[in-house]
Amino acid sequence: MVPRGGEAVPTASRAVRTGEPRRRVPRTDALLADPAVAARVAELGRDLVKATVTRVQQRCRDGALAPESVPAAVLAALPPRAATGRPVVNATGVLLHTNLGRAPLSAAARAAVAASCGTTDLELDLDTGRRGVRGAGTLAALRAAVPAAEAALVVNNNAAAVVLAATALAAGREIVLSRGELVQIGDGFRLPDLIASTGARLREVGTTNCTTAADYRAAVGADTGLIVKLHRSNFTITGFTAEAGIDELTGLGVPVLADLGSGLLAPQPLLPDEPDAATALRDGADLVCFSADKLLGGPQAGVLLGRAATLESLRRHPLYRALRADKLTLAALEATLRGPTPPIAVALAAAPDERLRRAERLAELLRANGIDATAEPSDGVVGGGSAPGVRLASATVRLPTRYAEPLRAGDPAVLGRIADDGCLLDVLAVDPADDRFVADAVLAVARCR
Ligand SMILES: *Cc1c(COP(=O)(O)O)cnc(C)c1O
Repeated sequence: MVPRGGEAVPTASRAVRTGEPRRRVPRTDALLADPAVAARVAELGRDLVKATVTRVQQRCRDGALAPESVPAAVLAALPPRAATGRPVVNATGVLLHTNLGRAPLSAAARAAVAASCGTTDLELDLDTGRRGVRGAGTLAALRAAVPAAEAALVVNNNAAAVVLAATALAAGREIVLSRGELVQIGDGFRLPDLIASTGARLREVGTTNCTTAADYRAAVGADTGLIVKLHRSNFTITGFTAEAGIDELTGLGVPVLADLGSGLLAPQPLLPDEPDAATALRDGADLVCFSADKLLGGPQAGVLLGRAATLESLRRHPLYRALRADKLTLAALEATLRGPTPPIAVALAAAPDERLRRAERLAELLRANGIDATAEPSDGVVGGGSAPGVRLASATVRLPTRYAEPLRAGDPAVLGRIADDGCLLDVLAVDPADDRFVADAVLAVARCR
């Protein structure tokens, strides 16, 4: 309702012409002093709150809002956080979704990040008071997790790890790579282009389907800086194929880097075709690199493990300074390694029966509230450039398609997939502790209709 009765002011404003209560629009300083609004100013900062206040005042001036409703409308319109990024419940059936920030952090990793937000001992040894190794605890945790590694280094992501190794070991020289491993990872991002951008020359060997140790041996010469063995992380080649193992590429007088992609530290029986760091190093790789936010279940980072002397030459290269990981990442990574099993590994190991039971419980609860919901088995995938071709037996709750959009608009958003004339909410990547939240979100959408 538009309140009336404000005194006309002697200007030609719209408020006067329409007789609206312009003078009764609550003043900015009064609104900012309202205790509930002031509490949000402490959280969000004055500028963000003031911008919302200005918008709501305008609605009042336009006659769309009663003056007495302005304080409550300001509180309702304030953003939940100072950053615009929204949490999303991943009900897509893709365990590692690059568009959703890949692995969710464990509670231990979140706590470690929170504890590292202030000033820390990142590069200081508090026992001696002297400069220390950056992220020493994280590097020690990596070596403990992969005893075959003499040393470790952490950079911004796996692409940075490849760039650093290629630059430090082979800039201006040749990098030998199989034609079967000229991989595009996602969104137009091609690893051969990345390697070429470092100033190293790519020396392709073999064919798309067959590359043998002899192909590498024939290509390696005085100008070779590095052999790269790249995991085909998002596709498979089947049929008539041949590939040289890492153990066949050692002893050529050139360092071997294995880009493992997905970040398994040791073999994972559920994903028998995914390479792991311990095996690659035991097979003789000088260096391995992988993403920390894929199957390892940690923060975005690139981990390099391997020979101490080789990693020291990477650490001393000027480019390392531009690629190194920050203190929050190092804290999250260490807690991921030392703490309880991270959510990705828990979700991967869950029994398929249990996934179906969760979907059935959810569907039943929704049906009891008059919602057209059914549980169905589904095929989940690992995603995020890991375990191509692997299907994970999962389960979804099928809702009418019209639920998809309002669920996506929530905070947190609930993101399912639309298929076969339905909105499918897959439990694969949903933390079981969030099942109740998903149900509440669906119920809230149903109530608003
Ligand atoms: C995912 C992936 C990368 C890129 O890793 P980022 O951490 O996203 O930079 C590189 N190589 C392989 C084989 C991958 O699977």
